[in-house]
Amino acid sequence: MTVAIKSVDALRNAGLVDDDPALDAVAQKYAVGITPAMLALIDPDDPDDPIARQFVPTAPELLTTPDERADPIGDLSHSPVEGIVHRYPDRVLLKAVHVCPVYCRFCFRREMVGPQGLGTLTPAELDAAIGYIAAHEEIWEVILTGGDPLVLSPRRLRAITERLALIPHVKIVRFHTRVPVVEPERIDADMIAALKASGKTTYLAVHANHPRELTEAATAAFDRMIEAGVMLISQTVLLRGVNDSVETLAALMRGFVENRIRPYYLHHPDLAPGTAHFRLGIEEGQALVSALRGRISGLCQPVYVLDIPGGHGKAPINAANVRGGDGCFTVRDWQGGEHPYPPTD
Ligand code: SF4
Repeated sequence: MTVAIKSVDALRNAGLVDDDPALDAVAQKYAVGITPAMLALIDPDDPDDPIARQFVPTAPELLTTPDERADPIGDLSHSPVEGIVHRYPDRVLLKAVHVCPVYCRFCFRREMVGPQGLGTLTPAELDAAIGYIAAHEEIWEVILTGGDPLVLSPRRLRAITERLALIPHVKIVRFHTRVPVVEPERIDADMIAALKASGKTTYLAVHANHPRELTEAATAAFDRMIEAGVMLISQTVLLRGVNDSVETLAALMRGFVENRIRPYYLHHPDLAPGTAHFRLGIEEGQALVSALRGRISGLCQPVYVLDIPGGHGKAPINAANVRGGDGCFTVRDWQGGEHPYPPTD
C-alpha cells in the first residue's frame, strides 16, 4: 500500500524529484506532504503534471518577490484572540489547527502551517476562542479552517461542534477542507457525525483545483456527506500550470455540479512568498472567467475573488469591482474602500 510522503528524500525515493539541493532548502522553509490518494494521481512521466505541480516542491519557491508577504490576506490584523479571525461583522474564522494532510505549494498560509507552523490551539486558547464567539452576538457563522480542520480526530472535532451547538446566535458552521479529495477515507460515519453541530446548518467547502482530483473515492465521500445533510460548496485557486485554461476550469466546475457541489469561490492566487510561478495576471483571470460564462451552465459559475492584501477582505474582481490595467489596479472592498493592487506599501 502507498504511504504518505512527508519529505524530499521520500520524494526522491519515489522518483518524483531529482537531487537538486535547492529542494532541501525549500523543505526547510515550507512543509512537504502528499497523501496516497494524490500520489496515485500523479503521472511521473509528465513533467507538467497538474497534480504534481500542486504538491511537489520546486526551486522557484525560494524566490520571493517584493510584493509577496508572510500574511498575504491579513489574518493577523483581524485576530482578537488566538485562533480567531474576525474580519466581517457576522462571521469568524476559527483556526484550531495548522496542520494539513497535504502541503500545497501555493498555500496562502504557508508561513503558518506545517510542523514548524502555528500548531494546534491549546485547551485554554480554544476556550478563549469559543468564549469570544459566545460573547459576540453578531456572529452568525463560524468557519473552521486552518490548516485543515478535518485532520483533527472526530472526537476532537466533535468537542468543538458540540460547544458551537450551545451558542444560540451561531446558525451556520462551515468547514474549509482538502480532506474529502486528498484523503477521502477519513470521511467516515464518525467524522460526518462530528461535522454536524446540533440545531445548526453545516456547510463544507471542498477545495479542489483540477478535475482529476474528483476521483471515485472522493465522489463516494461527497455522497456520504450529502446524504447526511451536509451542504457542499467548492473553492478553487486559479493556478498557472494547473487549471489556467477554459477547458480545465469548465471540466472542474462541471465536475463539482455533477457531484452536487455548488461552485462557490475561484480565488485569484494570493501574494504568498515563493509562489510567483503560480500567479496569473488579473486580466488573464478575468478573460478565463468571461470565457467560462459563455461556455458552461450558470450552475457551474464560480465567483472570481481576490483577497485584498492587508486584510480588507474578499472582492469579486469582475469589471464592477476593479479598475485599471497594465498590471496596476484599484480594487473596491466590501465597504466601498479602494485599494491599489499590487499593494504599494
Ligand atoms: S490544505 Fe489549505 S491550508 Fe493546507 S497547505 Fe493546502 S492550501 Fe494551505
